[in-house]
Amino acid sequence: MSRRRFLLSLAPALAAPAWVARAWAATLPRASAVPGGVARIGLGASEQPPRVHLGGDRVLVMRDGDEWVAFVGIALSAKPGSKLRVEAEQAGDRVERFEIAVAPKKYASQHLKVPPGQVDLSREHLTRYERERVHLSEVLRTFTDSAPATLAMLQPAPGERSSSFGLRRYFNGQARSPHNGMDFAAPAGTPVIAANAGRVIDTGDYFFPGRTIVLDHGQGLLTLYAHLEAIDAAVAQVVSAGSVIGKVGATGRSTAAHLHFSVYLNAVAVDPALFLQD
Ligand SMILES: [Zn+2]
Repeated sequence: MSRRRFLLSLAPALAAPAWVARAWAATLPRASAVPGGVARIGLGASEQPPRVHLGGDRVLVMRDGDEWVAFVGIALSAKPGSKLRVEAEQAGDRVERFEIAVAPKKYASQHLKVPPGQVDLSREHLTRYERERVHLSEVLRTFTDSAPATLAMLQPAPGERSSSFGLRRYFNGQARSPHNGMDFAAPAGTPVIAANAGRVIDTGDYFFPGRTIVLDHGQGLLTLYAHLEAIDAAVAQVVSAGSVIGKVGATGRSTAAHLHFSVYLNAVAVDPALFLQD
């Protein structure tokens, strides 16, 4: 089946009866306690959902059959062999503690040689980049209480999926932050769809990611779409899964038209592949 057929055949399924979404929630995301992965913690069948924290950040909790389940995003920067401490507050102030042992995962490295002027930003660009970094990191900490109906994601654009999540890039030997999303090579102007139902919480034209949209799906699950040629959604707009929100482009620091797609849980970028059907 072609990607496009697959996308079309998947779209009605998201509007299907609730049991479909529940069945999906049980299988997606694929749990894996590695840097850039998602850990799944069963929390029992209390009446009220437990409030779960990792450090200062709230963690996604949703119903799976009879029990509550936490899905914890693990940062790419988490050290294999380290332990993450998760606290779940049950009703009546009872606190349960869980430890996630971070398992190793090897991500590829890429070394690039570029003219020095392309590595070092001018003072003006640096100021702009810093301002935008602070703004986006606040946006990506958004946590709203309503839980998503499903954690399964639609592929947001047609085209080959890159496997470059977590790729460590070095420019002239200097480490850059690892690639925190998945890229889809698609021609400029190709429609980009919302991967899940949600609300637009940020749009902007930023130095590195170019024209960008961030969607809030609830409980700290966010998706980000970058390098867009056009943004066809406005802040506070509610979007359904599969609705068109923009067009593929090459804005920001991008050498060719493609969609950059990131998925966030508890303010860390996790591998989008874990949320997509095969
Ligand atoms: Zn990318």
